[in-house]
Amino acid sequence: MAQHEHVRVAVIGSGFGGLGAAVRLRREGITDFVVLERASAVGGTWRDNSYPGCACDVPSHLYSFSFAPNPDWPRTFSGQQHIRAYLEHVADTFGLRPHIRLDHEVTVMRWDNDALHWVIEAADGSTLTADAVVSATGPLSDPKLPDIPGLAAFPGKVFHSAQWDHDYDLTGKRVAVIGTGASAIQIVPEIQPKAGRLTLFQRTPPWVMPRMDRAISGAEKWLHRALPFTATARRGLLWGIRELQVGAFTKHPNQLGLVESIAKSNMARAIKDPALRAKLTPSYRIGCKRILLSNAYYPALAQPNVDVVDSGLSEVRGSTLVGSDGTETEADVIILGTGFHVTDMPIAERVVGADGITLAESWKDEMQALRGATAAGFPNWMTIIGPNTGLGNSSMILMIESQLNYMADYMRQLDVLGGRAALDARPAAVGAWNRRVQERMKRTVWNTGGCTSWYLDANGRNTTVWPGTTAEFRRATRSVDLGEYDVLRPPVTHSAAQAVTEEAAR
Ligand SMILES: Cc1cc2nc3c(=O)[nH]c(=O)nc-3n(C[C@H](O)[C@H](O)[C@H](O)COP(=O)(O)OP(=O)(O)OC[C@H]3O[C@@H](n4cnc5c(N)ncnc54)[C@H](O)[C@@H]3O)c2cc1C
Repeated sequence: MAQHEHVRVAVIGSGFGGLGAAVRLRREGITDFVVLERASAVGGTWRDNSYPGCACDVPSHLYSFSFAPNPDWPRTFSGQQHIRAYLEHVADTFGLRPHIRLDHEVTVMRWDNDALHWVIEAADGSTLTADAVVSATGPLSDPKLPDIPGLAAFPGKVFHSAQWDHDYDLTGKRVAVIGTGASAIQIVPEIQPKAGRLTLFQRTPPWVMPRMDRAISGAEKWLHRALPFTATARRGLLWGIRELQVGAFTKHPNQLGLVESIAKSNMARAIKDPALRAKLTPSYRIGCKRILLSNAYYPALAQPNVDVVDSGLSEVRGSTLVGSDGTETEADVIILGTGFHVTDMPIAERVVGADGITLAESWKDEMQALRGATAAGFPNWMTIIGPNTGLGNSSMILMIESQLNYMADYMRQLDVLGGRAALDARPAAVGAWNRRVQERMKRTVWNTGGCTSWYLDANGRNTTVWPGTTAEFRRATRSVDLGEYDVLRPPVTHSAAQAVTEEAAR
């Protein structure tokens, strides 16, 4: 068999998850690892999404690593460029560059039952092997293009929000924006003043709350630099407020009525036309879909060069966009704010486990992973932001850091076992974990709120969101329970068995 470069751990992806894993591995004393990234730079989500207005919906002091505080965040909710720069800074500060291989797209990873390692192939034809894989390819990293008849033949420009064409000038153009999710509502206010005409195709209106964004003052930055505990306290406060909200999302959705009234007044302040207000008023419980934050979205929709088609886009005929209600709109450019492959992540097609089946096949009925990390039949493979680890109201960095704790203990357990060994999640343990998660899910606003959302898979099951507090998840991922795993050892070969027998006979 061909000899390949071998590493102890291969991390796939260089967003918050992959870079966080790299930092954590180094802190655990593990330096024999690589970070494989398909793009030409680190940053993940915050590298790819460079559309106008792209910013985080979680305050920066919480949406950053606890081990890499940044006293210099410019705004309470920082924009894409600053978050991207932060991740570049993390890669430099923690000495990660020598581990990172850019332009290195993983095309397939196969578990070798005999060698007890992963064989990882990349698009450039290279192969390497690794004892363990940490898959941090992100839940929102592969843009989803809608299947709209005629779209492929549209004669104008078409691009997805995550693949913004900065060379294309929107000035004076007839622009159609498809979708009203988190990206679309940030894009619309930015491009509306430039566009000749802007038509927003909406299937379901979002709930939009005011955005408490402001510049962070020089005095605050000075304080956080001089007295770092003040930044920690600020983070703690931001975290605590969000933890207190969780009960309303997961157990008592009726309590969210008050939040709905704040969102309604946010709309009423800007939208004076009752017909437009009716189009924009959601008919489901707030929180069922991700709550969006903007002070500029509704004012932009109230401008005379904007139309809202509230029946969604059903067909494209040449340069004419046909709404489901039959309305026709001429467009020069279509911007797709249509989200990502979340419950059908392409990476799952590329992971081939111990039984020779892909993770996608294993997850064909439902994505499920033990403690959001490991899957039965895929030894020594773990994912960051796996099934049911998403949040509706707080920072994903909290969940990522919990998963890094789990990863660190997983590596420690392998050390303790010694020799060549692998851990394979027991199907019963994965099933029990998933049943507990799904049982709790029944009462949540995501399942009872009367909407369909990207949190739900094709079967209507919520396989994306964590139905509890981030503190509960932290506790659940503090350490690996070996009782939930089978320990695999290399198969005993004929010659090895003979040697043992001869040794015993002597
Ligand atoms: C526009 C936008 C706004 C968001 N806002 C928020 C927010 O306000 N709050 C919040 O908590 N979360 C937000 N998120 C979610 C965000 O995705 C997570 O918070 C976090 O950034 C995910 O980090 P990650 O490292 O897991 O994934 P990503 O950042 O997506 O990184 C995955 C990396 O894996 C690489 N990759 C994928 N496949 C391969 C392959 N086959 N081979 C090699 N490399 C591969 C990708 O190129 C990418 O660099 C937002 C997401 C988007 C898209």
